[in-house]
Amino acid sequence: MVPGVRLVVLGKQGAGKGTQCVRLSHHYVVPHISTGDMLRAAVKTGSALGLKVRETMDRGELLGDDIIIEMVSDRLSEPDARARGFILDGCPRTTRQAESVAALLAPGALDLTVDIEVPTAQALRRLASRRVCTDCGANYSVSAPPKVNWMCDVCGGEVIQRQDDTEEAIGRRLELYERQTAPLIEWYESRRQLAKVSGVGSPDAVLRRIIRAVEERRGRGKSR
Ligand code: AMP
Repeated sequence: MVPGVRLVVLGKQGAGKGTQCVRLSHHYVVPHISTGDMLRAAVKTGSALGLKVRETMDRGELLGDDIIIEMVSDRLSEPDARARGFILDGCPRTTRQAESVAALLAPGALDLTVDIEVPTAQALRRLASRRVCTDCGANYSVSAPPKVNWMCDVCGGEVIQRQDDTEEAIGRRLELYERQTAPLIEWYESRRQLAKVSGVGSPDAVLRRIIRAVEERRGRGKSR
C-alpha cells in the first residue's frame, strides 16, 4: 500500500495547483484539503457568514487569518487526515497561517512543501479559460470541456466560470499572491521544507515531478 503523505502545495493562481492536488490525493490516498473549496461550500449554504465570505472572495481579497486557521485546524484534526495525512491546497497564504499550520502538526510531520512554478503569462492564459464544477469543484478548461454540454464528468454538476475569475479579481489575487503568499516560499525554504517544481507541461508530467520530489525527500530523510 502507498504510504500517506503530509504535503503543502503552493503556487500562484493558474499554476495548476487544484488539478495536481486532486491527483496527489488519489495517488497517496489522503484527503485533499482546499480552503477555497471549503469556503465555496460555506457560500453555497446561503448563511449570513457565507454571504460575507462570498463578497470577499468575489473581490479577490483574502479572508481573515483567524477564520481560516480555525477551519483548517478543525479539518486537520479529523481521523482521515490524522491517520494518513493530507494535501493542503490554498493554505497557508500568509506567514501567520504558515506558523499556525506548523504549530498544528507534530514536529517533523510535514513531508514537504511544493511550489508549482509557472510564468505569470501562462497562469493568466489558464485562468481565462478555466471552468469549474459548481458541485464537486472538478477543473476543466475551454479547450478541455466536460464530455456533455458543460455537465461535470465526475458528478453531473453544472460547469461554469468562477465568479472570481474576472480580469479585475484575477489581477487582485495575483497581486496579493506576490505580496503575501510569495514570501512563504522563503519561509519554507529557510526551514528546508521546500521543493520547487516546474508546472509547465502536461498534468501527468507535472504530477510525476511532484511525486519524485516527495520520494526524494523521503529517501534523504526529513532531518536534512
Ligand atoms: P482558491 O480557490 O484557493 O483560489 O481560493 C479562492 C478564494 O478563497 C481566495 O481568493 C480567497 O478569497 C479565499 N481563500 C482561500 N484560501 C484562503 C486562505 N488560506 N486565506 C485567506 N483567504 C483564502
